[in-house]
This record gives sequence, C-alpha cells and structure tokens, in this order.
Amino acid sequence: MKFSLSEDQQMVQDMARDFAKSRIEPIAMEFDKSHQFPQKLIKEMGELGLMGVNIPEEYGGAGFDTVSYSLAVMEIAKGCSSFAVTMSVNHLVCEIIRLYGSEENKKKYLVPLASGDHLGAFCLTEPQAGSDAQNQKTTAKLDGDDYILNGKKAFITNGTYSDVFIVTAVTSAKDAPKKEISAFLVEKDAEGLILGQPEHKMGQCASNTIEVTLENVRVPVSNMLAGTNGFKVMMNGLNSGRIGIASLCCGLASSALDEALSYAKDRQAFGKPLNRLPVIQDKIAEMGTLLEASKLMTLNAAYVKDSGSNYVKSASMAKYFAAENCLKIVDQALQIHGGNGYISEYKIEKLYRDARITSIYEGTSEIQKIVIARQMTK
Ligand SMILES: Cc1cc2nc3c(=O)[nH]c(=O)nc-3n(C[C@H](O)[C@H](O)[C@H](O)COP(=O)(O)OP(=O)(O)OC[C@H]3O[C@@H](n4cnc5c(N)ncnc54)[C@H](O)[C@@H]3O)c2cc1C
Repeated sequence: MKFSLSEDQQMVQDMARDFAKSRIEPIAMEFDKSHQFPQKLIKEMGELGLMGVNIPEEYGGAGFDTVSYSLAVMEIAKGCSSFAVTMSVNHLVCEIIRLYGSEENKKKYLVPLASGDHLGAFCLTEPQAGSDAQNQKTTAKLDGDDYILNGKKAFITNGTYSDVFIVTAVTSAKDAPKKEISAFLVEKDAEGLILGQPEHKMGQCASNTIEVTLENVRVPVSNMLAGTNGFKVMMNGLNSGRIGIASLCCGLASSALDEALSYAKDRQAFGKPLNRLPVIQDKIAEMGTLLEASKLMTLNAAYVKDSGSNYVKSASMAKYFAAENCLKIVDQALQIHGGNGYISEYKIEKLYRDARITSIYEGTSEIQKIVIARQMTK
C-alpha cells in the first residue's frame, strides 16, 4: 500500500494550505465574532478550483480525485471550519448532480456550482425529521409538466447564498403502501421559495444556516433526480459528504493541536514549560495519535471511493471516528490552555465551539454506528 501523495495531490494540498494561511486564518476570529458569511473569500476559493476539487473539468470542476479533495478540506478547515463546511456542502450538491443529474442538469447547474460561480444547498432535514429522514412531510404533487412542492426544511447550510437547492419531497399518495421520496433541483428565484433568517449558532458562526419554506413552488419534471429514488440519491450524497466532514474534523483538530503545542511550549508551571510535564506530554501523545488515526481513516475512505469500491462503511467509520476524536482533541487542547482557554480572545475557545457540531450534522455519531453495523452484518 502506498502512503505517499501524488504530485497532483501534493499540489492541491499546498495550494489549499497557502490560501488558508494567507486569506482565511487572518480573518477567521473576526468573522466568527460578527457571524459574517465570507462570500468574497468563497468566490476566491472557487477561482482556485476549491469549490469543485473532485468534479471533472468538463463539468466545471478541477478534475482531481477524492483524496485531493479530502486534503484540501483538511487544510481549509485548519484555517476555519466554517469555510470548510461551506465547501463540503457545495461538493455534496455537486456530487449528487454529477451522479444523478441529466446532461442538461449538469450543464445548467453543475458547471456553475463546481466552478464556484454558484453555491448549492442540500435540503433533507425537516423540523420533525432529522435522523429519521424518512419521516418527512414536504410534498411534491404532479401538475402537468411540473411538480408543486410544499413544506419546510430545517438547518440548511449555505441557504441564504445558494443559487440551487436539492430538496426532497414525498411524491407518493398519503395512503400508498410504500412512501416514495424524490429529490428536486430548485432554483433560488423560484416563486414560493422562502428563505428564513440565519440561525444564531454556537460555533461555525461564519457558515450560514437557515430554514427554507416551500409554498407552492413549481419545479419542472426535468429537475427531478433519479425519479422516485430520491431517498437513495440523498443517502448516496451523504456517503460522499461524510468524507468531507471527516476531513473537516481532521483540519479542525489539527489546528487545536497546534494551539495546544504552542501554548504548552510557552506557558511555564512549576518552573518549566507545560510541555515538560509528564501529564501534559501524555495528553499531547494521545491527541497526536488520535489525529493521525483520524487522518488515515479519512484518506482511506477517500481512496476507497476513488478506487470505485463500496465506500459506505469506510466513510461512516471515518466520519464517526474523526468527529468523536475531534471533540476529544479540542477538549484536551482547551484543558492545556487552563483558564485562558475559556476566554474568547484565545483561538481554542472558537475551535471548541466549532467542533461541537461535527458529531451531529451529516448523520450523528449514533447514526454512523447504525450505518457501519448495517454494512458489517448484511
Ligand atoms: C449547523 C447545522 C447545519 C446543518 N446543515 C444541514 C444541511 O445543510 N442540510 C440538511 O438537510 N440538514 C442539515 N443539518 C441537520 C442535521 O443533519 C441534523 O440536525 C442531524 O441529522 C440530526 O437530526 P436532528 O437534529 O433532528 O436530531 P434527532 O434526529 O432528533 O436526534 C436527536 C438525538 O437522538 C439520536 N437518535 C436519533 N435516532 C436514533 C436512533 N435510531 N438510534 C440511536 N440514536 C438516535 C441522535 O443521534 C441524536 O443524538 C444541519 C444541522 C446543523 C445544526
């Protein structure tokens, strides 16, 4: 097994690292405080190919593999995880259109999304249907050549700034023996698409999260993805999305570890730097090991996807492991900062808040375990 990066992978990693260091890191704390969405910088990321890293060039992307994509998300998340989640959700939308869109859908929606001209949103969750996504109530009723959508979607990342929304809705009749869920491409200017106010979040405050309401939104049949297999469309999208979020966790945890290492070197206690105290060294060793394992599992999931094999288990394992250990690493990194870690002037306070969502969105840790066990026992 080869562990070294190809020239392309190395180049993408270097480019994303440079961008994160020069453009994201200097403003990350300020954007977190003001809850400002970094629209201009997201556009710049698009110009660098960072909004469609693993989408083929013919569809507006940069044409690299999933390993390159994962490396890029890790670097961007080191700069700020709000940028990484914006990027990851856009890739999730791109991947769904790449897999299930018609040629016309790809030209119209995928090209501008993957090139960073447009931004995309993934609308599965509803107020009463998160983990239990089948319990959704949004409906789509056929009317001539259009479907008419009605319902409410919750916690939609990128919503305010998105040009296209992938929205799921129930297409079967209420009394049908089997519930059918379909996925639709909805344009931002569609009449009846109502965007809520941004949620005031604990962390990842520079990312955008809103409620989306659909009131008699008319969508052409040609914007339906994979007929009545919309649930499969979204679940397959989430499988690839989980590699993005696992990568985000690695970048965020890596940033927390750097903060802890630097603090432990400078801070003196009992006449020596913290990093000379055995208990602190034990924490550092534990954090470093968990981060290394998270990265390997994440890159492995990306590699399995690139090789064309079933990567569902690898992606869920990576997301579960990287998220849970990201929480452990930021927690211990804050502990090493002592009281200062609790003060918002210190970067670790932001990282601690940012990390908390990682074991919740794109499938909670509990749901990842269900997916993993299902794959292992089928
Ligand atoms: C900041 C943010 C961004 C998001 N972005 C998006 C987005 O872009 N698009 C989108 O569609 N959604 C998005 N979500 C929604 C997110 O994916 C859901 O919040 C998540 O799937 C959990 O659903 P829930 O909040 O309804 O919790 P619930 O499903 O109500 O779960 C509550 C708790 O019960 C546990 N639980 C539920 N079922 C089981 C079970 N069968 N076995 C064991 N435990 C279980 C869960 O793990 C959790 O701990 C976002 C959420 C947030 C907060």
